[in-house]
Amino acid sequence: MCATFSQPPITHTLGLPRIGTGRALKWALEAYWRSSGTSDDRQRLEAEAWSVRDTVRRWQAEAGISRPAAADFSFYDGLADLALLFGQAPARFGNLPASPDSLFALARGRDTDKGTVAPLAMTKWFDTNYHFLVPELDAGRPFRLDAERYLGLVREALDQDALAKPVLVGPMTFLWLARGATADERLDRAPALADAYSSLLSRLVDAGVEWVQIDEPVVGLDLPSEWLAAFEPIYHRLRTPGVRLLLASYFAPIEGRLGLLSRLPVDGLHVDFSTSSSTDVEALIDRLPDFKVISAGVLDGRSIWRADLDSLLERVEPLYRRLGERMWLAPSCSLLHVPLDAAEEQHLPAVLAENLSFARQKLNELSLLSRGLAEGREAIAEEIELARSARWCLERLEGRLCSDKRAQVAELTEMEPARSNAYGERARAQREALDLPLLPTTTIGSFPQTNDIRATRRAWRRGEIDNTEYEHRMHDEVATVIRAQEMLGLDLLVHGEPERNDMVEYFGEQLEGFAFTRGGWVQSYGSRCVKPPIIWGDVGRPQPMTVRWSTYAQSLTDRPVKGMLTGPVTLLSWSFVRDDLSREQVAYQLAASLREEVTDLAQAGIAAIQMDEPAFREGLPLRRSQWGEYLDWAVRSFRLATAVAPDTTQIHTHMCYSEFNDIIESIAALDADVITIETTRSNMKLLDAFADFDYPNEIGPGVWDIHSPLVPSVEEIVERLELALAKVPVDRLWVNPDCGLKTRGWPETRLGLERLVEAARHLRNR
Ligand code: GLN
Ligand code: ZN
Repeated sequence: MCATFSQPPITHTLGLPRIGTGRALKWALEAYWRSSGTSDDRQRLEAEAWSVRDTVRRWQAEAGISRPAAADFSFYDGLADLALLFGQAPARFGNLPASPDSLFALARGRDTDKGTVAPLAMTKWFDTNYHFLVPELDAGRPFRLDAERYLGLVREALDQDALAKPVLVGPMTFLWLARGATADERLDRAPALADAYSSLLSRLVDAGVEWVQIDEPVVGLDLPSEWLAAFEPIYHRLRTPGVRLLLASYFAPIEGRLGLLSRLPVDGLHVDFSTSSSTDVEALIDRLPDFKVISAGVLDGRSIWRADLDSLLERVEPLYRRLGERMWLAPSCSLLHVPLDAAEEQHLPAVLAENLSFARQKLNELSLLSRGLAEGREAIAEEIELARSARWCLERLEGRLCSDKRAQVAELTEMEPARSNAYGERARAQREALDLPLLPTTTIGSFPQTNDIRATRRAWRRGEIDNTEYEHRMHDEVATVIRAQEMLGLDLLVHGEPERNDMVEYFGEQLEGFAFTRGGWVQSYGSRCVKPPIIWGDVGRPQPMTVRWSTYAQSLTDRPVKGMLTGPVTLLSWSFVRDDLSREQVAYQLAASLREEVTDLAQAGIAAIQMDEPAFREGLPLRRSQWGEYLDWAVRSFRLATAVAPDTTQIHTHMCYSEFNDIIESIAALDADVITIETTRSNMKLLDAFADFDYPNEIGPGVWDIHSPLVPSVEEIVERLELALAKVPVDRLWVNPDCGLKTRGWPETRLGLERLVEAARHLRNR
């Protein structure tokens, strides 16, 4: 049964985290940005970056990775680097050479005597929580190779390991993701870009490179047919003698792309096994000429869980028997999306810590798999056994599987969750209960998180102040926020969220089934990192999580106070989730806990409850064919969580930075009484989806972009509201900012809200 090939399969990586242990790069970058940018400052930054790269190179060498990724490093973002590499800084920046300072200009914008130069926009990298800078193609700016910086990184890697494999995002992905021209215009430029890639490839040949990995994750998206058809000719054009190309697809499944992929004139294909089916992988291999390499992305590069070596071997052994040395092994994608090293998590329960696998651990798993294939499973029997027994313990860890919680969720999900009455009837009941004016004003939840607030929370966490003192100080803060809102004349108040550091962490810390890492940072964008909680066990709510704060706030005022919760889909999307239960089931568990919270809040007399779902849209699968299934359970979990509310309790939801056009039916199916959304930046354009669909419930389109330090004037707010009134009936329109005020200071908050209230009054009087 066991394979008899003497050479173990080649192992390689598609990319490693670049933020450094202890977030070294973050600190170095932020120090550099504060500095005056002298050559000394820059040298310090470069030295720190070198050591970040050196660390992951060393890890790869220690693990025996045959072809470590090279030039996957960026000081901020790889796509912006690529734009510079091909001379594509937008014209407003003038000519920018490919250098760290140019990259920072693209990322952070620039102040000049003539005013500020806006940075590139940022958006999520496929369905991950990493944000890339969106390249802008100015019409007519020719592609011009500026390769020294990139080649420097390649040479540095080759110096240490002659087999290092440079990584590049491919031309089709670059053009598809870029803005600044229509899709057709961008596609028209593909041949010219292919030529620029080809010149770069020639330079890599000169540098002694054998293989280059070209990432084309867009190949798995629902691209227009012209785009799909362009892949083959474009790759014929960029092919360059002397270097072999490994085309990497990941994230989206290869389903429906087998013909395209197999015809591409490349020397190997990397496939993400965590999203593509075995049938598709086999069918792809059937079509491949027998000199081409298949890189099996067997280790899920986005999972933080230790691999089940046995079952992975099960999946790849037949392929290895078929392909022999033509099969390579890799993580499914770049390891950018997992933290660096799980060895730092020894404070966690041992069983949990043992079952974590971050980037460093994955490198070892990869080598083990390679050995297991070449020498048979016996050769790694001990490691297989260790992995198996760690997993065995995890499965039995107290809290992992709680039959009472499972039974409760099963019972809950059997029913069709719905409020007792339809919106029309509820609205009447709520009008009476809440006694709100026409065009009611409200905010999205958080108020300025001052240094004082943060210091208090920190002191409390460190045990420097006790619970009583903490509560006392937080109550003061809530009182300040309530008083301010009363003075400003807002209609539906909030408590201000001073007790929350983060909208997911706050709930995770109070729910069963969650754990928190110490060093589990992943890059979100630039120097910013997030530390997602881990959902490892069945979720439960031992006690109320927000009721105390909300009822305290309500006790201070006669006006209604809105309770504030994070929704099930957002809690799920912004966490690392267990891999033994479907996301759907975990979402239902979260919903069950939130449902208890809603019940308690309503019972405590809180007449409006907001359940934030900013991650609702980003959870959409990459392929449209899979949207229906996701939307079904996402909507269901929101409804499960909220449908217990009595008619008189007004349910709000909030989403920001989302497009609603193609999911408006599901948004309506949430059946929230009120939805607040971000609409300022699009000048109310995002409302069209609601208007065209005849959205039946109430809407609060944001009229103040709180992510910008500029406070709009009363006239501007009135103007925006007038635009909104053309699309939403006046008795269903709310007046509110785009998002929470957490990042704003008090002076601008006061000023902005004053104007917002003033604008609402002005319109009411008309
Ligand atoms: N209630 C949260 C706040 O106001 C919502 C945050 C968000 O939309 N991301 O901060
Ligand atoms: Zn928001």
